Order: sequence, then C-alpha cells, then structure tokens
Amino acid sequence: MNDAARMLARRGARSSMNLIDLRSDTVTLPSEGMRQAMARAVVGDDQYGEDPTVNKLQERIANDLGKEDALFVASGTMANQIALRVLAKPGDEVLVGYGAHMLLHESGASAVSGVQLSPLGSSGIFGAEHVRAAFKPAGHPLCAPTTMVVIENTHNLGGGIVFPYAESLAVCKAAGELGMSSYLDGARLFNAAIASGHCVKELSKPFRLVSIALSKGLGCPTGSVIAGSTADIAAAHRIRRILGGAMRQVGVLAAAGIYALDHNVGRLVCDHQNAHLLAQRLADVPGVELELGTVETNIVIFRTRENAPDAMTVVQRARRAGVLVSSFDHRTIRAVTCLNVGAAECEQAGRVLRDAISPC
Ligand SMILES: *Cc1c(COP(=O)(O)O)cnc(C)c1O
Repeated sequence: MNDAARMLARRGARSSMNLIDLRSDTVTLPSEGMRQAMARAVVGDDQYGEDPTVNKLQERIANDLGKEDALFVASGTMANQIALRVLAKPGDEVLVGYGAHMLLHESGASAVSGVQLSPLGSSGIFGAEHVRAAFKPAGHPLCAPTTMVVIENTHNLGGGIVFPYAESLAVCKAAGELGMSSYLDGARLFNAAIASGHCVKELSKPFRLVSIALSKGLGCPTGSVIAGSTADIAAAHRIRRILGGAMRQVGVLAAAGIYALDHNVGRLVCDHQNAHLLAQRLADVPGVELELGTVETNIVIFRTRENAPDAMTVVQRARRAGVLVSSFDHRTIRAVTCLNVGAAECEQAGRVLRDAISPC
C-alpha cells in the first residue's frame, strides 16, 4: 500500500469507528491480542489435516460441546449447508423454526442440499407436538419423508431468544423416536449458555450435529465449527471439499478462534447487559413496540407503531446521527450489541433512536 492509500484506509477506519454500529455482532473487529495470536499461529496444510492450530481448535470445540470430533468451516452458512448434506438426502423434508437463518438468510438453502425446508411454529420456538404433527414417514404416497429437525439457539429473528432447554430435549426425543436426526444451529450458542445457565455441552447433548460461530459475538474475522460423531465429521469433511470450503494454512484464523474462547466468552454477559439497557431506553418511547421479555441476550428487536416513522426512516435518521441499526421489514428494526460497543454507546444509541422515532 502506498502512503496515500494507507492514509485513506486510516481515515476509513477512523470514520467507521466514530459510528455506533449496532447492525450485527458480525461487525466485531479483532482486538490487538487476537491479531498477535493470529500472527504467531503455527500453521500447516489443513486439507491434509496438518495445521496444528486448526486441529487444536477442532479438538477444543469437540470437547467443549461433548462431541467426538469437529470441523472448522468458513462460515455459519457453510456449517448449515454441510449439516443438511450430511443428515438429509435430496427430496427429504427438513423441519426448521419459523424465521430461521437457514430458511431466510442463506440465499436459498435448498439450492445446494436439494431438501424441502418446512417452517414450524410462529416464533422460532416450537415443541415436540409440532414435530409430531408435521412428520411424514418414508413411503408416504404424496409427501416428502421428514428426516431432520433444526433448532436455532439463540433465535435471531425472535430477538435473540433462548430456545427453552426442556423444549429442545423434548424435540430431540420426539425426533429420535420418529427416526429423524437433529441439528443445532448454535451460531450464538455461547450467548444461549450464558443467558440460560446451561453450559454449551448440555445444550448440545441431545443433537447429532451442532455448529457454533466464531465470527459473531466471539469477535473473530470469520469461521464456524461443526461438531458431531467421528463418522458424521468425516462426511462433513468431504462435503466441505465439495462446497469449495477446503482450506490450507488457516491456523491464522483458528488462532483467532482459540483466542476468542479464552478471552471473549465470559464477556458476552456485558453484551447482554448493554442490549437490556438499550431495550429499556427504547421501551418507554412513544411509538415503539418492544417486548422487554424477548431481550434475553444481545439482540433487541422492536417495531414502530402506525403513528411513528417507518423502519427505513428511523434507520436513515439514526445513521445521520451516528448510529447504525438494521430494518427487517416495514416496521421492524434490529439492534445488536457486541464487543465494539459499551454501555455509554448504548445510552447514546438510545437517545438517538428516541429522537429518530419521536422527533420534537
Ligand atoms: C449468522 C448466522 C448464521 C450464518 O453465519 P455466517 O457466518 O454469517 O454465514 C447461521 N445461523 C445463525 C442463527 C446466524 O445468526
């Protein structure tokens, strides 16, 4: 990079740092400590299983989640696609909670796996009775056989809500009795563990495959890890290759993951407190519809009432005042806390959003 380019890059970094960015917890920036861990990483060719840092990360996650083996993959979307390919066949029906990432935000998840995704319930949370009611056995004259169920914990579109533990046990038990397999999209599983008091191993136990994201609240540049039995992870390894996701000296990325597990898990509780603070500031703004009970983790989802500005207007006004949030539909707005923002920023965001929604 020449000097002019370096100056522009610095200016870019500075101006984006002045903004309070609550669009997603994917906007986290690697800390100095994480960058040092990445720079020092011992690496090898991961396609040959020879990257010691990747191997260390995979063993650690497998151990933390109580599974035999684990595989480092490029993204949460890739982990989900791998799970669909490992556990279901083209033409199978896969049950997934209403509003799930797999259903809405993977640019057409069925294109790769060839499965039929069917939404259950109305909030991302569903019960064993929904699974039993939706189940179609193999050999049905008209319907696709239902072979897999997916739970998202925490549930993004539901406002980062924790999938109730007892319900997840019941869903997996019913799935097992019906001969179906189960997958946990745990992109924010560490948030769920902190909010629920159940450790990630407990939350993972009933599921055949589980994935967690390193690139959200844990603060890594990219990466997810999928964990399960030795045989399932061997199958996942092959699918990762088919998807073009086999990687080489990615110990530099795995080192960020290990650093995050050591330093960024406990602090997720701060993100939850900051989200709660922001939610409290918003809940009493006239024109805002917000169920404080749904703010269990680091996501705040709220709606603007008919007499208040719509979501796009609020997003634009807030941006002009230095606060970034996302609009999900005409009246729905999402704000997500992460390690880039503290309590003071959330107070400030609360003031900016209040003005954007009820201007005097
Ligand atoms: C973000 C997210 C993913 C996908 O992760 P990417 O790394 O962005 O592909 C999958 N599931 C859930 C619940 C998510 O929030």
